[in-house]
Amino acid sequence: MILDKFSLKDKVAIVTGSNTGLGQGICKAYAEAGAKVVGVSRRPSDETAAACGKNFYNVIADLSDTSVIPTIIESALKKFGKIDILVNNAGVIKRQDSIEFSEENWDSVLNVNLKTVFFLTQAVAKQFIKQSTGGKIINIASMLSYQGGVRTPSYTASKSAIKGVTMTLANEWAEYGINVNGIAPGYMATNNTEALRQDGERSSDILSRIPAGRWGTPEDLQGAAVFLASSASDYVNGFTLAVDGGWLGR
Ligand code: NAP
Repeated sequence: MILDKFSLKDKVAIVTGSNTGLGQGICKAYAEAGAKVVGVSRRPSDETAAACGKNFYNVIADLSDTSVIPTIIESALKKFGKIDILVNNAGVIKRQDSIEFSEENWDSVLNVNLKTVFFLTQAVAKQFIKQSTGGKIINIASMLSYQGGVRTPSYTASKSAIKGVTMTLANEWAEYGINVNGIAPGYMATNNTEALRQDGERSSDILSRIPAGRWGTPEDLQGAAVFLASSASDYVNGFTLAVDGGWLGR
């Protein structure tokens, strides 16, 4: 049955940034689809745990430093015995005019959004290869993987890079049965866009350009996240799927 291919029954997924926003929505969707979920967050993911039930386990880690990676892998293996899915969702954005943009705003964004994503992905891929199970990796990209944006040079650099690296890893790891894909959310109502949504002029500019006529929600991302984690997407590799209410087509 085709719907069986979308099931995540007995799969083990690591989802970073599990305490809020899109990551919380992905954790809920995976738990509903039957997966055991290891949520990684720097603050407790209590709300997510309450929504997901007994198959959710929270690892507290600050992803601005790669030194936390072995603990994440070991905790997932100790709790659930294997890893099948990784969602690199945690991310930060710093807004400042490019002419004044600080080194701190550059490094802090690149560290979380790109460096730790790459090395966590590498560590999980090694585990997939060790297990001989294949696996699914999903990188959360952005409209700024395709466009320049304004006042976001480090964020645009990180999200453009992650779309490229997604293709590199898909090319290298397809032979192990590993799929590496991305999801590029449009403008979603989360903490990430709080400042934009509070700015009346920017908010109405953005809304008027979204064909769907509304900001996206964490629920809007759930279908794509389950699809790319499931065997329904086994022949999809290296692609970044926009879930954007039509923004990129405009
Ligand atoms: P969000 O609510 O701000 O969530 C970001 C998540 O990343 C939070 O859980 C945050 O933890 C976590 N995080 C940030 N820095 C971290 C660190 N050093 N260590 C551990 N966790 C860290 O925003 P969101 O919209 O759900 O963002 C999720 C992803 O979607 C991000 O990669 C973002 O760039 C991407 N995205 C969002 C949009 C949008 O319109 N919202 C559009 C395109 C792409 P804290 O809560 O502790 O900060």
